[in-house]
Amino acid sequence: MRRKLVAGNWKMHGSLAENEALLSAVLAGMGDVKAGVAVCAPYPYLAQVQSLLAGSAIAWGAQNMSQHAKGAHTGEVSAGMLKDFGCTYVIVGHSERRAIYGESDTLVAMKFAAAQAAGLTPILCVGETLEERESGVTEAVVGRQLDAVIHACGVQSLAKSVVAYEPVWAIGTGKTATPEQAQAVHAFIREKIRAQDAGVADGLVIQYGGSVKANNAAELFSQPDIDGGLIGGASLSADEFLAICRAG
Ligand code: PEP
Repeated sequence: MRRKLVAGNWKMHGSLAENEALLSAVLAGMGDVKAGVAVCAPYPYLAQVQSLLAGSAIAWGAQNMSQHAKGAHTGEVSAGMLKDFGCTYVIVGHSERRAIYGESDTLVAMKFAAAQAAGLTPILCVGETLEERESGVTEAVVGRQLDAVIHACGVQSLAKSVVAYEPVWAIGTGKTATPEQAQAVHAFIREKIRAQDAGVADGLVIQYGGSVKANNAAELFSQPDIDGGLIGGASLSADEFLAICRAG
């Protein structure tokens, strides 16, 4: 039985004061949450998040990392550095990084490998644009993004990862995939992996991300292949985020 995982992606939001208020409110409401919960914070706040969450039921992580372990890479942050601050997770291949910062499937696979080498659990984001969905190539795109990691790291590497299906047209737009649309892609992902390793497929946590809110989380999370969510905007409100966590 897979345990659902609800992870907040704060993106480039927050301040010392806002983070403290948000996390104390979320911690105070965790009593009846059954899902696993994590927050992925901007780098400068990882030390603060670590000190606020250490010993609690909430794990933490980062939103990006370098594919390199160390060296002359000005401005970059390695997986080992994230480990130093107690991170469990790191998001790799978020569509904003693919689209705005030109991250290729190959680069994302390198980051995935580097994260695992340092003992982090990568949350691998995959998903199609609206144009791709309308041209009927959703499965081809998601399949290609997964194959890049499978070819580089092997299908077994997915056993120590989380996959987040995030249709690009649903991220930050207020447009959510219907539960049926999301379930169809989640089932495709699981079946694709099952064709190579049934054990990995059955154990893999596949999150849905894209305008998940308190009022649509329960229906999305009740789909058989949706194992929780990656939450952007709604993770910045303690009430909304907690309601989503309770739906998991
Ligand atoms: C995200 O940033 O991964 C995301 C899903 O954002 P939002 O929930 O705001 O659509």
